[in-house]
Amino acid sequence: MRSYHVWTIGCQMNKADSERLESALGQMGLSPTDSARDADVVVLNSCVVRQSAEDKVVGMLTSLKPAKQRAPDKIVALMGCMVGPKTDRLEARFPYVDVFMRPQQYAPLIDLLGERMGVDPEGCIGPLVARADVTAYIPIIHGCDKFCSFCIIPYRRGREVSRTIDDITQEARLLAHRGVREVTLLGQNVDSYGHDLPDGHDLGDLLAAVSEVDGLERVRFLTSHPNDMSDHIIEAVNGLDKVCEHVNLPFQAGDDDVLERMRRGYTNDGYRRLVEKIRARVPSVSLSTDLIVGFCGESDSQFQETLSLLRDVRFDKVHAAAYSTREGTIASRTLEDDVPQEAKRERLKAVEELQEQIATEINTEMLGRTTRVLVEGRKRDRWYGRNRNDKLVFFSDDEDLKGELVTVQVEKTGPWSLQGALVP
Ligand code: SF4
Repeated sequence: MRSYHVWTIGCQMNKADSERLESALGQMGLSPTDSARDADVVVLNSCVVRQSAEDKVVGMLTSLKPAKQRAPDKIVALMGCMVGPKTDRLEARFPYVDVFMRPQQYAPLIDLLGERMGVDPEGCIGPLVARADVTAYIPIIHGCDKFCSFCIIPYRRGREVSRTIDDITQEARLLAHRGVREVTLLGQNVDSYGHDLPDGHDLGDLLAAVSEVDGLERVRFLTSHPNDMSDHIIEAVNGLDKVCEHVNLPFQAGDDDVLERMRRGYTNDGYRRLVEKIRARVPSVSLSTDLIVGFCGESDSQFQETLSLLRDVRFDKVHAAAYSTREGTIASRTLEDDVPQEAKRERLKAVEELQEQIATEINTEMLGRTTRVLVEGRKRDRWYGRNRNDKLVFFSDDEDLKGELVTVQVEKTGPWSLQGALVP
């Protein structure tokens, strides 16, 4: 039997794309292997949001060259955001790569495999349904229309296209039937879901529809843009039992001038008012955010606005990154990457230290409390899962509890996770 290895880097959208490709490869009769070197088919699903991610992909591609030379029949495919509309430069740089595929465009690989294996790809692909586990991602809207000045995504993933509610709920039903208990609805701008659909349905409607699916216990959604977070969505988080109380709401920078240069379309004050509204409607909500330090022209005092927003809002989780120019973005053409590397490093460290302290304090409040955990798996003799607020929880037990909803009493807390004991 032929084997495949899919290597993924980057965001949840990439992970979801990989899951769906793996599902198609499985339906074509290939089996997964952990070894990229030995696999008959290797797919690298790439990310270009940060230079470090792109460097890792290039490193992986380079390391595959000897294996491809030894076994010319091996298929090497590069997928994801590194692949733009034109591939001539990539083809010249990596001549040993057989297939280049833009995000979600699986057909070139599936067709090539169909030819090589003598099977009809039409019959093999079927509906692209993720491999079933306890949790699964469902992409609901592809692409992005926002064109933030630092971001390459709209150029690589294209404009926003929403899937229909029927299509998504059908996939959710299929996943639930295969044992999935929690789905995360994904989009680069998940909360702008539906604006391009003729029926006028939005994410609030979709959350309600997916909540109706029997067998699913929980529904989450990622990632929201502050400008698209409507009252209807907030109401859905508040009112629908299966929708978890967690919102990822990137603010990116605390200073209004920096936000304008980023083309984010909101102000520090507007963001704070939105957080107040969400917390007023959903008091138990946990919030996470994404931010960039050292964006073009960010002065030290402007960076202080980012720190004060962190201090005031007190997020549960923060994904922070130092700015690096991405070729092809608006910022790369119109702004100067003028914050010294040393300053970027110091700012990142300041954010990480502050957030560690805040997350430690927030999680300490959980000590002694009970929390409901959906058990996702086992790591080093301990079960792990997440609670509704997306907090990672570890506990020990001899029973096989994968996929179960259990109650855990929190006995120990840290900034990144909770530990406890199962409540019988
Ligand atoms: S909203 Fe901005 S940061 Fe997010 S994907 Fe779109 S362009 Fe990129």
